[in-house]
Amino acid sequence: MQVDYIIVGQGICGTFLSYYLIKEKQSVWVIDNNIYNSASRVASGVINPVTGRRIVKTWKIDELMPFAKNAYEQISNDIRAENIIKEITVLDIHTSMQMQQAFEKRLQEKDTAYLHHCKEENLWKKYFEFDFGIGEIHPAYCIDLQTLLIQYRNYIDRLQCLSAASFDINELTIKNDGVNYKNISARKIIFCDGINSINNSYFNHLPFAFNKGEALIVSIPDLPRDFIYKQGFSIVPFKDDFFWIGSTYEWNYESVNASAAFKTKVENYLKDHLKLPYKVVDHLAALRPANTERRPFVGLHEKNLQIGILNGMGTKGCSLAPYYAKQLTQHILYDTSIDVEADVKRFDKII
Ligand SMILES: Cc1cc2nc3c(=O)[nH]c(=O)nc-3n(C[C@H](O)[C@H](O)[C@H](O)COP(=O)(O)OP(=O)(O)OC[C@H]3O[C@@H](n4cnc5c(N)ncnc54)[C@H](O)[C@@H]3O)c2cc1C
Repeated sequence: MQVDYIIVGQGICGTFLSYYLIKEKQSVWVIDNNIYNSASRVASGVINPVTGRRIVKTWKIDELMPFAKNAYEQISNDIRAENIIKEITVLDIHTSMQMQQAFEKRLQEKDTAYLHHCKEENLWKKYFEFDFGIGEIHPAYCIDLQTLLIQYRNYIDRLQCLSAASFDINELTIKNDGVNYKNISARKIIFCDGINSINNSYFNHLPFAFNKGEALIVSIPDLPRDFIYKQGFSIVPFKDDFFWIGSTYEWNYESVNASAAFKTKVENYLKDHLKLPYKVVDHLAALRPANTERRPFVGLHEKNLQIGILNGMGTKGCSLAPYYAKQLTQHILYDTSIDVEADVKRFDKII
């Protein structure tokens, strides 16, 4: 079989890269083994324009957020998946006087487009225990990644360009004008395999620094679903009328599995702060394909231009993946440039 591109992985990166290539009338062959605890399958799917204790705007967000909104709307439309992206307000329920003051301080500054005072703070007293007020972050977006990944998988399956299997790098042969994988020839192969790129001899020297995150899936029938609640933990509306509650950012972890310690921590938080009945229904854990630079890895291998990568999205795959999938597509087809901070060329010497 002959295709233009083989894509390894159908997380959020492989989904958007194959989507943009198909839109450009390229033939693709997507190989994905659908691991249940890939980052994209465990993520809450939030695009929050501000970050951290100092409530600063996230990198490039003024460009990334409108691009992502458009991209998720387009892909939903094309694959006929409904309600994949939802505009939402984050209620930042301050956990200390310092956090309240930091939010107020940012609000006084000029560049505060995303920060607002909470109009009806007292209304939330019937749902949450809190002493230091609430700030609002708007607009933010919630992406239903689980539905998107399943529906897109069905879509490429119908197009007959999905292989539901594990990719084995030992079966890959690099030629001058392309690659061979088993019985498939392609012009290029692009790795979108998340944390598995660490096992790939072409890219395993990149400064990956995986980071573990956990979440509880909880039923809270009486909590309004039009908001994300942030009070130390984030409570995010999730599939099937559940809420996703997390997360941790662990650089040093003993195992990738869900831990009893995390579950206890969240349950203690809920007991102390949530004034509604709830029931824990699931517990998830995954490694984020993060890196020491906190910038994506996008582009082609320096020596083997038949091999590429779209990875390193860290904690921000939902906003970064569509944008850089599009850049990589344009780069491959029209030789346009990739942002210097994201271009994998910056590591030419080490890879
Ligand atoms: C707990 C948690 C919460 C998060 N919350 C958010 C959030 O709210 N917002 C946000 O923007 N980001 C969030 N993230 C980060 C986000 O999940 C990642 O940035 C993003 O999902 C990375 O996508 P990816 O496609 O690069 O990798 P992955 O999602 O890991 O996808 C890789 C794919 O490759 C496949 N694969 C791997 N190896 C092989 C192989 N050998 N053969 C075949 N297939 C293979 C896997 O099955 C998988 O489908 C969160 C992450 C975690 C863990």
